[in-house]
Amino acid sequence: MALTTRRQFVQQAVLTATALYPRRFSAFLKDTAGGPSQNPASVDAASLRKLVSEISGHVITPEASEYESARLVFNRAFDRRPAVIVRCAGPSDVARTLDFAQTKKLPLAVLGGGHSRLGYGMCDGGVVIDLSGMKRVEVDPGKRVALAEAGALVRDLDEATQRHGLATTSGGCPTVGIAGLTLGGGEGRLMDKYGAACDNLLRAQVVTVDGRQLEASRESNPDLFWAIRGGGGNFGVVTTLEYQLHPVGEVVSGTLLYPSGRVPELLHAFLNFLTAAPDEMDAIAQLLPTLRGARLKIDLCYCGDPRTGNDLVRPLRALKPQDDSVKVMSYLEAQLAGGFLLTPVAHFQTNLFLRELGVPAIAAITTAINHAPAKCKAIIVPLRGAISRIGLSDSAFALRQPGYEIDITGLWSTPAEKAEAVQWVEATRNSLQPLANGVYVNQLGDTSAELVRSAYGPNYARLVEIKKKYDPSNVLRLNQNIKPA
Ligand SMILES: Cc1cc2nc3c(=O)[nH]c(=O)nc-3n(C[C@H](O)[C@H](O)[C@H](O)COP(=O)(O)OP(=O)(O)OC[C@H]3O[C@@H](n4cnc5c(N)ncnc54)[C@H](O)[C@@H]3O)c2cc1C
Repeated sequence: MALTTRRQFVQQAVLTATALYPRRFSAFLKDTAGGPSQNPASVDAASLRKLVSEISGHVITPEASEYESARLVFNRAFDRRPAVIVRCAGPSDVARTLDFAQTKKLPLAVLGGGHSRLGYGMCDGGVVIDLSGMKRVEVDPGKRVALAEAGALVRDLDEATQRHGLATTSGGCPTVGIAGLTLGGGEGRLMDKYGAACDNLLRAQVVTVDGRQLEASRESNPDLFWAIRGGGGNFGVVTTLEYQLHPVGEVVSGTLLYPSGRVPELLHAFLNFLTAAPDEMDAIAQLLPTLRGARLKIDLCYCGDPRTGNDLVRPLRALKPQDDSVKVMSYLEAQLAGGFLLTPVAHFQTNLFLRELGVPAIAAITTAINHAPAKCKAIIVPLRGAISRIGLSDSAFALRQPGYEIDITGLWSTPAEKAEAVQWVEATRNSLQPLANGVYVNQLGDTSAELVRSAYGPNYARLVEIKKKYDPSNVLRLNQNIKPA
């Protein structure tokens, strides 16, 4: 694709920028331009000694040999240097660290699996509550529930539950943290059948900024329970999560990769396939640029009877994929194979939710992919079945209508590639924005008050009231922030 043509695509999209992104073009480039702060604020030695003596976990300061690895997050666009990382051993450590950060008036970050698109798990010059030492998962197969510590990753939860032939909705990437995933909603291969991860949350233990250790469930602190199912890390630090499990054994899973140049035709066929597919079928379409034009890849996971699953895949196989890895495997195998990004890399991702994927949307996506730099892509995540049958006001998670989340991602390894990738992602988003009806907070690489409000729609006002109650000073603000006023 000639550079001038791509430039025209980007320029055209600047002109079509809409109210949600009025002056935000390339805000991500500005936010990540500064590089690391070389001199992280230090905390006085006496205060540090006291903190160390009061917690059971581990305190990591810039002098420690493990500091450099402890501060890494998945999105390598962010290179932050906190003053103190507290690797907590339990809720009391979390409460103590919350108090420490507030007393010292330092910024505070909460680190689970480190997969925030905005690198929110780490902060510059502040305190990090690092939950990565709290990964235990206990399964009660009789009751079909799993109790997981908040530092557990998707693969920890999947491995523990699959030992009993059980599972719950978790993310499509094995190293995402289950707490960050669930608190923002939690989309995964089982969501069409069993709802989002947050829909399977039965209760959670939460440490609030004033140090209280609360249970959040339908019976205890129901307002907090409502808010943490979609409202992100705004209301407290979650230390354990209890999930409803379901029997999940073998699945039909893998990918179908089609030759380039057939995107609109294949996307229409994909939509027809979805119309006929039962809730057991999870299907995601990836659009990838190649030198010969855009190509489509479909990722499948059918969690019902394998013979039925194979029959259902037939219409997609009839479209003559050039690679076909779809086969019967365990659900765990499908999960460990992962999704779209498996190794840490600098990237910018944003998303939009579209109720319909009609001719204008397909045309816009096809045009965008035809102008995409080599390391960019768009992913179409259909939201259908169980996740879309839950009432909009039943939890904070607000993507409850059937539709399509479009994740737009750009990766880079050099500054020149970075500018090109970020501008393409923003241009693609702007070209689709007139057709959009919301966003998914967990997949946002940019933020603003308007964007967060649009993610929650009619649930936003209630979230503000609950934020005022549990975190009136906005101590927990390194997130897709719900402001208390
Ligand atoms: C490669 C990749 C694949 C992904 N795949 C999926 C997917 O399939 N489905 C999906 O829905 N999302 C997916 N995401 C998005 C992911 O769900 C969010 O980025 C999520 O916030 C990551 O959680 P984390 O704990 O790994 O990240 P972190 O960066 O550690 O945490 C992110 C934020 O979550 C909050 N948080 C985390 N733990 C706690 C806690 N215990 N208490 C309070 N707040 C907390 C904090 O605000 C924190 O800043 C993916 C992201 C990446 C990078």
